[in-house]
Amino acid sequence: MGTQLDNAKSVFRLGLFREFPTLMHYRDFGGYQALAKALLGSPGAVIGEIGAAGLRGRGGAAFPAAAKLQMVRDNPPGERYVICNADEGEPGTFKDRFIMTHIPFQLLEGMTIAAYAVAAAQGFIYIRHEYPEAQETMRRAIAAARAAGLLGSDILGSGFSFDIEIFSGAGSYLCGEETALLSSIEGKKGRPRLKPPYPTQSGLWGKPTLINNVETLANIPPIVGRGADWYRALGTADSHGTKLISLSGDVASRGLYEVPFGTTFREIIDNYGGGIKQGRLKAVNIGGASGVVVPPWELDCPLEYSACSQRGITIGSGAVFVMDDSRSILENVRNRVDFFLHESCGKCTPCREGLRQAGRIIHNLLDGAATLADIDNLERYTRTMQNAAFCGLGQAAGNSLSSSLKYFRGEYEALCRDRDQAAPKEATA
Ligand code: SF4
Repeated sequence: MGTQLDNAKSVFRLGLFREFPTLMHYRDFGGYQALAKALLGSPGAVIGEIGAAGLRGRGGAAFPAAAKLQMVRDNPPGERYVICNADEGEPGTFKDRFIMTHIPFQLLEGMTIAAYAVAAAQGFIYIRHEYPEAQETMRRAIAAARAAGLLGSDILGSGFSFDIEIFSGAGSYLCGEETALLSSIEGKKGRPRLKPPYPTQSGLWGKPTLINNVETLANIPPIVGRGADWYRALGTADSHGTKLISLSGDVASRGLYEVPFGTTFREIIDNYGGGIKQGRLKAVNIGGASGVVVPPWELDCPLEYSACSQRGITIGSGAVFVMDDSRSILENVRNRVDFFLHESCGKCTPCREGLRQAGRIIHNLLDGAATLADIDNLERYTRTMQNAAFCGLGQAAGNSLSSSLKYFRGEYEALCRDRDQAAPKEATA
């Protein structure tokens, strides 16, 4: 592992908690002080602190965390749930697995504080079944927290009660979508539901439900414990705190890095990842399979929500996959389209048929059987998926297609049977 943040500036203190996921070790380094502090104050004060810190959802949508907490809180009194989305199906992303297997108590503490804020008595952690080690570690952590009075009835003598169960997913990427996840826990097919109503009003079994990603919830204890001012100082004026980056591909040091917002993608690759392993940098996929493919000249963009949005870059789950010049953009895109075709639930036509047609064209291109007109059709299918698909899977499935067509169209055209016809157009453009 390359560069690590100083513990004083780190939300996750990855170096400190790499090998010792015990409750005693976690408490030795200040663990559960944030929960004790939260329970002494009001739920509103907890939401206020998280709001002042400017925490945004780390699962991809970047929705303000305090606003979501408040929406659940504002429902009429009654049953509510807190769900941790630990499905982590985005290829190339392994941050949530790391948190669960190495810092499980930070996640449990974050969930418990969130539950206190929204007055929930029951929580679930939805963990994909491909993560048996994470499931086992979380089960042991829950048992240890219960035994220590940090979960269950009357937590720390406060009168507040909350408990957590593990729910194992069955391997569907789509269950990372929050309404599909709810259906899955309810024992139904893991398919997305129409929104509104949003889960904050009508979630699990029709009750108000807070759903957050592992990384988002694990940000809460340091915010409550160390304060919003400390947290805001870690990032930029636009994006506060840090982001876990799953760095993979053709870099010298692949791994998980905690990176302050404001760091450029070039710095992530060079300073954290030790630079390109061999050859020359050709492209970088940012945001996982549902993210974009960008050329090297876009890498001076800072890791920041507004700057990335202006350039059409999706931070997403924080996956950064580096490609050297030996790689084919088309083969990379084909893998992503095949992946989404396999994971699509088939409920809506733009996604089901769009991916099928996009896959056919990409495979034809790689087999030398496509024409320039096919590329125009590919662009149309992509736009239709992005604009008309029912859920985020279909909407985001076109991101790698549209970005690679924008930046690497020459590679597409070079594979066409009638590619010579493209040359005059380029010369006069
Ligand atoms: S966009 Fe795809 S995954 Fe989502 S509902 Fe439509 S077919 Fe299913």
